[in-house]
Amino acid sequence: MKNNDIIQLFKEISKTIRDRKDELTKLDQEIGDSDHGINLARGFSVVEEKLAELDGESIEAIVKAVSRALISNVGGASGILYGSFFQKMVPVTQDKEEVDLALYIEMLEAGVDAIKQRGRSDFGEKTMLDVFIPYLNFLKENTNKELSLLLSEATQEAKRQLEDTKDRLATKGRAAYLGERSIGHIDPGAMSAFLMIETVESFVKSI
Ligand code: ADP
Ligand code: MG
Repeated sequence: MKNNDIIQLFKEISKTIRDRKDELTKLDQEIGDSDHGINLARGFSVVEEKLAELDGESIEAIVKAVSRALISNVGGASGILYGSFFQKMVPVTQDKEEVDLALYIEMLEAGVDAIKQRGRSDFGEKTMLDVFIPYLNFLKENTNKELSLLLSEATQEAKRQLEDTKDRLATKGRAAYLGERSIGHIDPGAMSAFLMIETVESFVKSI
């Protein structure tokens, strides 16, 4: 994927998040404060505006613009977490003209580390990391597979992990205040993470 494909991919991600805003907000209504979809949709509308001005720019500049737009416009825990997720990818993309599987994995690795550090969180705490970490591990462990098959299997793994957040106790973020009552609901941030992953899969298939 070259720079303009990355712009297109972020446009698709923005559209997915905005289309699924109500669903994300509804999940956050159950174990949070009902703003996850609203927060992300607001940030990704700004992302779309910025993308319109980035035609032909470097991958590094595109990822930097996305992270800035999210940090400044999303708000809530997820704003800083997703903002840092993309911000940490910026140095990894420096001077790169193409994103291949190896670079995609490196970008995800940097992004996941950023969320872990910022959120002082890890796998198993009913957050977006419960989807991102196993997805990244699946990719790393199966790099020998053909790309579209790999992305499709990794996305299925992410879906299973998303569903597993339902039975999990939240120990980080707002949902943690609910204690045992957080059990029985899918985590909203895990859902938005999955929607991004699913969009990558369908976008790569389409190009
Ligand atoms: P807020 O909780 O501030 O209202 P959002 O509703 O936008 O923010 O986002 C909530 C999501 O953020 C959660 O569903 C969870 O996935 C994620 N999250 C919250 N705290 C953390 C953390 N410490 N580490 C990783 N993810 C977190
Ligand atoms: Mg919230």
